[in-house]
Amino acid sequence: MELLTANHGLMRDINKLTVLTLIRQNGPISKAQIAQITGLNKTTITSCVEQLKQDLLIREIGFASTSQGRPPLMLQFNGKEGLVVGAALGVNFSDVIVANLEGDILCQNRIPLRAQSAELFIQDIGDAIAASMDSVAMPALGVVGIGIGCPGIVNTATGDIVRSNRYPLLPHVPLRRALEERFQRSVTVEENGNAALAGAYYFGKMSASSTSMYVHVGLGIGSGIMLQGSLYRGGLGFAPKLGHTLFAAGGKACGCGLSGCFEMYASEHSLAEHYWERDMRHEDSGDIWRLAGEIIELAVQGEAKALRSVLHIGEMLGMGIASSINLLNPDHIILGCRLNRVDSFMAVVEQSIARHVLPLRMEGLTLMPAPFGEHSVSLGAASLAIEHMFSGIKVG
Ligand SMILES: [Zn+2]
Repeated sequence: MELLTANHGLMRDINKLTVLTLIRQNGPISKAQIAQITGLNKTTITSCVEQLKQDLLIREIGFASTSQGRPPLMLQFNGKEGLVVGAALGVNFSDVIVANLEGDILCQNRIPLRAQSAELFIQDIGDAIAASMDSVAMPALGVVGIGIGCPGIVNTATGDIVRSNRYPLLPHVPLRRALEERFQRSVTVEENGNAALAGAYYFGKMSASSTSMYVHVGLGIGSGIMLQGSLYRGGLGFAPKLGHTLFAAGGKACGCGLSGCFEMYASEHSLAEHYWERDMRHEDSGDIWRLAGEIIELAVQGEAKALRSVLHIGEMLGMGIASSINLLNPDHIILGCRLNRVDSFMAVVEQSIARHVLPLRMEGLTLMPAPFGEHSVSLGAASLAIEHMFSGIKVG
């Protein structure tokens, strides 16, 4: 009997989430259209709609104009009553945004991040989130969740950063637990490539039936794969690590312990090394990040040496991405990086890919810059926090 009650409650929650998702993705939409698409009966839809209105997640926006019959009342997602926090962790800073549930960014802050110890690291991220939340007016639903996107290996079951080349002094950071204790809200922690890819689908409304690979190029290379609407995770739940696939046998030693990794040849770290013609593996990550930014800026201005280095990285990037295309045959490759500020960069990547893929693999393939630019990871992390919140909604 208890099982039956539990199953009944579960079905109501699933129906409510189905109706909400449909309204969010396809609104304005009428109840009749929802019935047509979902196959749910009228009583169920009316019950879900009433609950969602009480939750302030949808609103009625008036009657549609129609040439015959009774005009239907149209429903729309109401994303302005709730907020979400998204943070993208960088080398020595965190970029924090506060957005409403429709993805409109209301505030953004770049705040220094000390990665000398887990305690300082957690405190700085928490302070950055608190300051960002304090800087916006709270709507009725308040902040519904917090999403963090970060470089390295994340245990998504626990929300712990297990290891990251960007934070060599931090072997293990129980980030989710610490932030949930501080803010008493649900926190989602995800690797940056996965986070950015999730955001491109959620807020960018990419087709759930498509297969995409996200390549996030910073000092290292993060990646994510979306297979027909679901983020791909391996057996232990980890995100794909394109940056640590073998690119040069017997090549440069990587911070991960392997050698010849792709990110040692096609990242902003490699850009700085190529431009300055020296091994920078033991130099400060913050300094390399700053130098890489300066090289990109010089290349944007047309300085020949900087441009040569940027386009060299584009060539290398195309080669490594081509191997993934040969493996996955995706519909989209999404590139998130500062390098595409240089006009010819994307074209060079595309030409390099074309030279290294199997026949026919370019057909139907789209190479695109990340739709949300510098906010891709933070907005993506925010989208995962929203999805987490929606997945737990209950019918009262
Ligand atoms: Zn590696």
